[in-house]
Amino acid sequence: VATTVPFGSSPHKGVRVLLGVLVGLGCAAAQPDRPKRVSLTRPRPGPAFDDVAARLIGQALVSRASFDLVADLCDQTGPRLSGSPGAEKGVRWAFERLRDEGFLVKKEQITVPHWVRGEETGEVISPFPHKLFLTALGGSDPTPAGGLEAEVIEARDLEDLARLGDRVRNKIVLFNKQISADGGMDGYGSGAKIRYGGAAAAAKQGAVGMLLRSLGTAFLRAPHTGSMAYEEGVARIPAAAVTAEDADLLHRLLERRKGPVRVRMRLGCKTLPDVESHNVVADWPGREKPEEIVLIGAHLDSWDLGVGAVDDGAGVAIVMETLRMFKRLGLRPRRTVRVVLYMNEENGLRGGKGYALAHAAELGRHVAAIEADSGAGRPLGFSINGGPGAEAIILGLAATLRGIGAAEVTAGGEGGADISVLGPHGVPLLGLKQDTRHYFDWHHSPADTVDKIDPRELALCTAAMATMAYGLADLDQPLSRAPPRPEAK
Ligand code: ZN
Ligand code: ZN
Repeated sequence: VATTVPFGSSPHKGVRVLLGVLVGLGCAAAQPDRPKRVSLTRPRPGPAFDDVAARLIGQALVSRASFDLVADLCDQTGPRLSGSPGAEKGVRWAFERLRDEGFLVKKEQITVPHWVRGEETGEVISPFPHKLFLTALGGSDPTPAGGLEAEVIEARDLEDLARLGDRVRNKIVLFNKQISADGGMDGYGSGAKIRYGGAAAAAKQGAVGMLLRSLGTAFLRAPHTGSMAYEEGVARIPAAAVTAEDADLLHRLLERRKGPVRVRMRLGCKTLPDVESHNVVADWPGREKPEEIVLIGAHLDSWDLGVGAVDDGAGVAIVMETLRMFKRLGLRPRRTVRVVLYMNEENGLRGGKGYALAHAAELGRHVAAIEADSGAGRPLGFSINGGPGAEAIILGLAATLRGIGAAEVTAGGEGGADISVLGPHGVPLLGLKQDTRHYFDWHHSPADTVDKIDPRELALCTAAMATMAYGLADLDQPLSRAPPRPEAK
């Protein structure tokens, strides 16, 4: 099958660019006169797209604008947990900034959960007194005012918990699984599953509390928070994350088995009534098909321990600066590029769900969505989840980013939590892939601060995002859509 892709930005209108990748997949016979090495090249869009990319990459690299945006956001708002004054400052900051720069910007109302942390302490009582560095998981109920004191029992993960059966009764379950920065079976996702459902699972077996080894990849005795949830009809036991070092200590104490290991935890967190908040949505209208939309998104909210610089202030800066570069350089692709700054990605996804609901009528005209929510490390490329042939087109566009090391394309994934909601509606989903080797060192911890961001790496991320967004918005034909999935409402 010889597939061709027309690229609108080609100066030779109608020229079709052969997708070299298909040559590599056994279609070499289609081009007998080409030297063999050509079969190794990626499909490429036309030279005009290279020019656009060169301008975007150059602009991103000569300015510190992306870094200045995230620094300004974090320094002006502090932490931005949904429902907090910081989150509202974040909404106002983004709205005013985009409005004052002349963009078409709206605040779109949603309702968000409002959980507050309060005071929190923990300690080992026996075999000897020892302060534990812990932090409540988002959504946890408080302990009784005097604290919760109980014996600790260790489980590696949810399967291990099930094996312990009745032995967890009246105890605090310590889930003690080290996650790996390399992803895969032991990646962050495997730990996040335990964090989210561990308390309910432990409560079903009679446990009275939950401790989680922090889902982090650095060892600086800082706890990492994150969201958890209870189940209807199951006891709501308090849940906190301890530092990796403290989890290791508890493990060693339990291993020696000279009498019980008892801890006390005191959590002052609580869930208040839901409050009104907003997504911030800004458009850069297309020159030919303004009704068709390439959405680029990130989330404005953050956890409360740090200031949400890498998660996800960096993403906010990447997508905002993309729009600002289009304006500054006078680049207007055929379709509209829309920035969506989501609220409440961290503990409810109300922004993602609210956007899909509010824009239900135009989701058929969302031709792609890209999310930036993997920190501020340098860009590696994109993930793509779309219809037949979509991956080859993304390969073609990303090939232009080879010079900045961002040409990698992987198939599958959901792009990001906020935009995953659009997948069932058939919207092709892309994620900006980044170097995340250090992301989980800081993410959701007090260490998520502006100083963790390298301005040059962040600028490269913006360059990659802007190039891909422009390329998608300027295609002759939009990416093919995945068939709508049954969960689409
Ligand atoms: Zn995030
Ligand atoms: Zn997060």
